[in-house]
Amino acid sequence: MKPVPLPTPDTQEWFDRIDAGELTVPRCTACASFFLHPRSSCPRCGARAVELIPAAGTGVLLSFVVNHRAPAGFEAPYALGVVALAEGPRLTGIVRTDAPDRLEVDAPVRVAFEERGERRVVCFELKEAGR
Ligand SMILES: [Zn+2]
Repeated sequence: MKPVPLPTPDTQEWFDRIDAGELTVPRCTACASFFLHPRSSCPRCGARAVELIPAAGTGVLLSFVVNHRAPAGFEAPYALGVVALAEGPRLTGIVRTDAPDRLEVDAPVRVAFEERGERRVVCFELKEAGR
């Protein structure tokens, strides 16, 4: 069984919206900076004024590993990537591809969701030209 997130009070709404198929990015209403992971105060200015903004759903692959020895519940090979979202913050997730050994840094990706029981987790797909 693949792991599922265990929300905290600070991350509950963010995960609930992922369960509803919407990725949001927390933004400070005082200094306008985006950040991840979700927390109740801004990591830049400390203001306790945070709102969740719907993400554009696109990003760029900054780094990745291809795992050829999968843990329980996973099917090897699969790629785990660090993505810079269009809003700026970075998010880690599985990059869906039929050819993980052909992934490249800087590849454009789009956000997708993987069903895990009653929850969803964020993953990424390669954004092909023209799609
Ligand atoms: Zn701030």
